[in-house]
Amino acid sequence: MDVRGDFIIVGSGIAGLRAAVELAPAGDIIVITKADPSESNTEYAQGGIAAAIAADDSAALHAADTITAGDGLCDEQAVRVLADEGPRYTLELLEWGARFDRDDRGRPALASEGAHSVRRVLHASDATGREIGRVLWERASSATRIRVLKNTLAIGVVIEDGKCAGVRFIDESGASGHAFGHTTLLATGGGGQVFRETTNPTIATGDGVALAYRAGARIADMEFVQFHPTVLNADNSPRFLLSEALRGEGARLVNASGKAFMLDYHPMADLAPRDVVARSIIREASRTEGPVFLSLRHLDVEQVRRRFPMIAATVARAGFDLAHDPIPVGPAAHYFMGGVETDLEGRTSVCGLFAAGEVACTRVHGANRLASNSLLEGLVFGARAGRAMTGPLRDADLPPPVLGDAASGASIRPGRMMSEGEIRDLMWTSVGLFRERRSLQDAADRLQEQQAALDGNLARDAPLDHKGWRRSSMVTVAALTATAALRREESRGGHFRTDFPARDDLNWKIHISDVMHPR
Ligand SMILES: Cc1cc2nc3c(=O)[nH]c(=O)nc-3n(C[C@H](O)[C@H](O)[C@H](O)COP(=O)(O)OP(=O)(O)OC[C@H]3O[C@@H](n4cnc5c(N)ncnc54)[C@H](O)[C@@H]3O)c2cc1C
Repeated sequence: MDVRGDFIIVGSGIAGLRAAVELAPAGDIIVITKADPSESNTEYAQGGIAAAIAADDSAALHAADTITAGDGLCDEQAVRVLADEGPRYTLELLEWGARFDRDDRGRPALASEGAHSVRRVLHASDATGREIGRVLWERASSATRIRVLKNTLAIGVVIEDGKCAGVRFIDESGASGHAFGHTTLLATGGGGQVFRETTNPTIATGDGVALAYRAGARIADMEFVQFHPTVLNADNSPRFLLSEALRGEGARLVNASGKAFMLDYHPMADLAPRDVVARSIIREASRTEGPVFLSLRHLDVEQVRRRFPMIAATVARAGFDLAHDPIPVGPAAHYFMGGVETDLEGRTSVCGLFAAGEVACTRVHGANRLASNSLLEGLVFGARAGRAMTGPLRDADLPPPVLGDAASGASIRPGRMMSEGEIRDLMWTSVGLFRERRSLQDAADRLQEQQAALDGNLARDAPLDHKGWRRSSMVTVAALTATAALRREESRGGHFRTDFPARDDLNWKIHISDVMHPR
C-alpha cells in the first residue's frame, strides 16, 4: 500500500513528536513508527530535561557546561542554539500541561546531575520522558492532519531525481509500501542495541543511521558512544538504568568493602563526567576483584522513595530495597553522540531528508553528552527541523567531510553471517569502554565483511523480514562505529583507547565522517 502526505516522520519519540506539533498547521503528516507509538527511548528517560531557567543559571552557563562535557568537539553554534532556545521549548511543555515536579513555592523543581554546575534539570518524578511523551502525543494527535502507521518499519529512503521523496516500509501485516511526501524526517533514536549491555529498549537498533547511510547521507562521530555508569547488574535481571539523578541527590558508588571510591579517580567524585565514572567503576572492580554498588543508605528514606518511585519499584522486583541495600551496578551502552550529520535545521546531506534527535549528529554533544541534554536536543532540534521541512528544499549547510573514504569496501569480501548475539558480544568486548588497535581492527574487519554480505543481499533484492532488517541495521551501525573507533587514535569523551590514552588536539580535533561509504 502506498500513502502520500506532505510530510513524513519516521519515529514517535520526543524529536518526531515535537516536529509533528510544528508541522501540523502546514499540511498532512504521516508518522511511521515501528512498534507501539509510545515505545521509544523517550518513554524510558528518567532523570529529566536540562534547561537554564533558574535565577542562578544562564544559557551561557549551560552552554559552557555542555562544551566542557563535549571534550573539545562541540559545535559552539549548535550548543548556543540548544542552550538559548532550551528554556522556551521546555516552558512551553509546562504550558501544554506537563506535570513536572514543583518546589515548595510552586516553581519547577530542579535537580542536579553530573557535570552541571548548577541545578537545572526539570523532571517528572523519575519518569520524565513518559510525561513529555504524553504531553506531545496529546498535542500532536489533536491535529486532525496526522496519520500514524504503527508497527510499521521504515526500510529504505526513496530517492527520486537526487532528492528524498519518502520512505519504503513494511506494515504490520508484512506488506510493503511507500510513504511519499515533500520532506521526510528521520527521528528514529539511538542504537544501543548493537552492544550486549545496554540501557536501550529493543527498538533502538540505529535504523535511521542505516537508512541514511544506504541513501548516501553523511554519517559522523560514530566512535562517540556514551556508556552509562550505573545500570543494575544483578543476575537474572534485565539491565535497568539507575539514573544519574540518584547520584545528583547524594547516592555514592562504593566498592565491596563499602568504601566510596570515586574521589580516588576524579575531583568531582560521583558527579564526574559519565565516561570517567563508567571507566572508574571497571577499574575499581578490577582492582578490588569484586563488584561495585550504588549506595543510598545514608540518605533520607522517605525522600528517596518519594523522588524515585519507579526506580525503587523496579529494583524491588530484582530483590533490592533502593533506600537500604547496596545496589550492584555496572556500565552499559546508553547514547550515540554521532549519527546522521545535519545542519542546525535538521537538513542532512541528502536533499529533502531531515534528521533530528538521537539519530542526528548536530555536533551539539561533541565527544560526550551532558546529562539530560538529549531530551532537550530532541525538543529543540525536532521543532527546528519541523519548521525547516515546510520551506523550499535546499542543500544542507554542512562543513566538508573529514577522513572520507577510509574504507571503500573494494577489497572486503563478504564473511560468514554473524548472529545478532555475536555482533552484540563483539561490540561490547572490542568496541566498548576500553578500546585498542588490535581488537578494533579485528572487529572492524569482521563487521565490514558482514556489511559486504549485506550489500550483496540488498543489491540482489533478497527479501528481508522485520528480523532481517533489524539485523541489517545493527550490522551497519556496528561496522560504522568500529571503523570510526579504529580511525580515532586518541582518547576523548566517550572514546577511550588504551593504546592512545591522551587527548590529542593537534591531530584529532576533528569530526570523522564517511568512514565507510557505499559509493
Ligand atoms: C533508560 C534511558 C534513560 C534516559 N534518561 C534520559 C534523561 O533522563 N534525560 C535525557 O535527556 N535523556 C535520557 N535518555 C536519552 C533520551 O531518552 C533519548 O536520547 C531521547 O529520548 C531520544 O529521542 P528520539 O526522539 O531521538 O528517539 P526515541 O525516543 O528513541 O524514538 C525513536 C522512535 O523511532 C522509531 N523507529 C526507530 N526505527 C524505526 C524504523 N525503522 N521505522 C519506524 N520507526 C522507527 C521508534 O519506534 C521510536 O518511536 C535516556 C535513555 C534511556 C534509554
